[in-house]
Parts: sequence; structure tokens; C-alpha cells
Amino acid sequence: MTLIAKKLSSILHQIHSAELQAQRKSDSVALLAVSKTKPCIDLIRAYQAGQRHFGESYLQEALLKQKELANYQITWHFIGPIQSNKTRAIAEHFAWVHSVDRLKIAQRLSEQRPARMSPLNICIQVNISNEVTKSGFSLAELPEAIKRISFLPNIKLRGVMAIPQPETDFALQRMPYRQLYQAVKALNKPELDTFSFGMTGDLNAAIVEGATIVRVGSAIFGARVYK
Ligand SMILES: *Cc1c(COP(=O)(O)O)cnc(C)c1O
Repeated sequence: MTLIAKKLSSILHQIHSAELQAQRKSDSVALLAVSKTKPCIDLIRAYQAGQRHFGESYLQEALLKQKELANYQITWHFIGPIQSNKTRAIAEHFAWVHSVDRLKIAQRLSEQRPARMSPLNICIQVNISNEVTKSGFSLAELPEAIKRISFLPNIKLRGVMAIPQPETDFALQRMPYRQLYQAVKALNKPELDTFSFGMTGDLNAAIVEGATIVRVGSAIFGARVYK
């Protein structure tokens, strides 16, 4: 068993016990393996251990990996910041985008999604801790954003994504997720079935508060080194 396979298995166990503890259904939380900055061999190790959904943040890096891994049945998720001039390539090469932070980005993804492909799954990024440096819609803007994005063709609005300010305290980790989960549930739209909540550091808090996809990088692939 490779180290990555072991770490993957341990994260899956952690997810399962968090589901149990939160009295959630088994397998109601999916694992997105965040492989940004990691070499293809690492993705292959995770793939060979059963992982199929991978998340990338940097477009050029992701496109290179997709080319090299074209023979693998991978579902690719884009989770990074999006510049307008990158929307076409994202619309053409991914199944999911978690980081839609402006209306204009949603409109462009919708226009540029090739007709031969199934609709692009989208999450609206919500700036839940209202940090000036983090992108995303505010909670106040969310209902209007959902309304407008829902009407767009070629994309399928699935839910919301959040990256709260890092906290080590469990109760503090839970708070922003709870707030956002309740705000979405209050809109009474069953088609919004996705809560992309939680990373390596706050996985359990996110699951208690309704996460349906957790995005985990370093706990599977080790710490990232940026050059
Ligand atoms: C890098 C990244 C992750 C994974 O972070 P870890 O702490 O390594 O699990 C999750 N979500 C987003 C949006 C990221 O950019």
C-alpha cells in the first residue's frame, strides 16, 4: 500500500466517523482530492486506491495533468480563483466549478460550455467570514445571485462553496458553515444539493454543519511546497 493510499483510507475513515457522529447518512459526504501543485504520479496513486474526483486550482497546471491522465476516468473540479480570460478553457475541460464568485463568471461559463457536453456543475462561492481579501458573494447577495445564475443555460447550479477564515476551535469552525447552510436551506430550493465545505483543517466541523463535498489536499498528498 502506498503512503497516499494509506492517507486516503484514513481520511475516508475520518469522513465516515464524522457522518456517524453527526447522525448523517453514510456516504452523504463525498471526498474531493485536492491535487494542486502535486505531480501526476500522486494523482495516479490516489486513483489506484479508488479516488475519482480531483480538484485543481491553477488552470495551466490542471490542463497539463488532464492531458497526461487522459486515459483515467477522472472527474475534474476547478476550485481556484477565476479570471475572465480563463473561463473558456474551464468551461471546456471541467465537470465542476466550485469557485464562481461573480455573476460575469457564471455568464461566461454558461456561454462557453460546449453544447455537446453535459451542463457544467457550479457552486457559488460565498465569502462567509467577510474577509476583504477573499472573493465571493456576501450572504446578503446570495439569494439574488442564485436567482440569476439558476436561469443560465448549459450550467447547473448545485450549491455553495465556502473557505472560512482558518480557526482551530471546533465551535468557531462550525459557525460560518452553519450560517451559510441555514441561509441556503431557507431558500427552499431542493435542487441546491451541494455544500462544498471543509478542508484538511476543519473537515469534521464542516461535516457536522452539512458538507456534502469536502475538499482535502494536504492530508492526502502531504504539505504543498510553492516555488
Ligand atoms: C488548496 C485548497 C484546498 C485543500 O486544502 P488542504 O488544507 O490542503 O486540505 C481546499 N479548497 C480550496 C479552495 C483550496 O484552494
